[in-house]
Amino acid sequence: MDKVEVLSPAGNLPSLKAAVDNGADAVYFGFRNETNARNFEGLNFSEKEARQGIEYAHKKGSMANITLNTNPRADDPSAWYRTVDVAAEFGADALILSNLSLLKYARERYPKLPLHLSVQASVSNYEAINFYQRHFGITRVILPRVLTVEDIRLLSEKTSVELEVFAFGGLCVMTEGRCFLSSYVTGVSPNIQGVCSPAKSVRFEHQGGQLQTRLGGVLIAQYEKGEQAAYPTICKGCFEANDQVYHVMEEPSSLNILEMLPEVLDAGVTCLKIEGRQRTKSYVGTVTKVIRQAVDAYYKNPDQFRVKGAWQKVLNAASEGSSHTLGTYEESWQ
Ligand code: SF4
Repeated sequence: MDKVEVLSPAGNLPSLKAAVDNGADAVYFGFRNETNARNFEGLNFSEKEARQGIEYAHKKGSMANITLNTNPRADDPSAWYRTVDVAAEFGADALILSNLSLLKYARERYPKLPLHLSVQASVSNYEAINFYQRHFGITRVILPRVLTVEDIRLLSEKTSVELEVFAFGGLCVMTEGRCFLSSYVTGVSPNIQGVCSPAKSVRFEHQGGQLQTRLGGVLIAQYEKGEQAAYPTICKGCFEANDQVYHVMEEPSSLNILEMLPEVLDAGVTCLKIEGRQRTKSYVGTVTKVIRQAVDAYYKNPDQFRVKGAWQKVLNAASEGSSHTLGTYEESWQ
């Protein structure tokens, strides 16, 4: 039985090493500019660090995928094309892309370099997946977090493209690559500048004994003394609707598929992705280790697979809002 790949996030070189040292089959990371959708200050890799990161991963038998999943600027797309060239030169194992012009450029210039279709492309049906395979030779698609396990199984029956799914981490509840919520209050777009809730637009303020979080001046949530404050994103904010103040769109919570691991693997996925390039080295190492242990335990004895309480405890401590959800893997709504 081919083992599913465990793919871990890396926001910097120490996180990349933590992922590899804790059993990641592959890591993914971006360069320190607008070319990827985690363009936060202090995060990502310089060219020198990217070369070192790829070398470190290869030395330890892991792969390194480069994330390049924002849309090139109309006035100056050069940084995006240059990043494709640099990643190829450094020996990246795959490029994670969503933009058509970049897919075309990468395919024509580097015909042997595997291309993975980013979740930012919002592709969730087999006709679209096969279209990208036919025209750009993609070998893998990263599926958006809006599909049920049954949907994933149906896709795997209709395409030879590898399927990568999110296994753990923060949830983007909108159709990915199409969300403009944060742009309305910050003026910058997750899909071009690569930042949802940029740090420069975030404020934590104390008001009358409460802690308020704001994004671009807009009140997102307020917390009583001692309550854990979440990083302010619009989709997980508390707003007034129907005379109540509550998480109108989504509770802060992390996706965690361990309870459905056998069903997800049986549906035909090739890769389990851990979200969180913006998280710490300790998060990356800890979560990678638990997912690695769970995957290995499954393949050792699939029929006897049980989720350990200790795994869930560790993952809950790493979760947004300290709780977890199976997301649409178990929901009937989408
Ligand atoms: S606002 Fe929420 S759904 Fe939209 S991009 Fe940000 S995290 Fe994703």
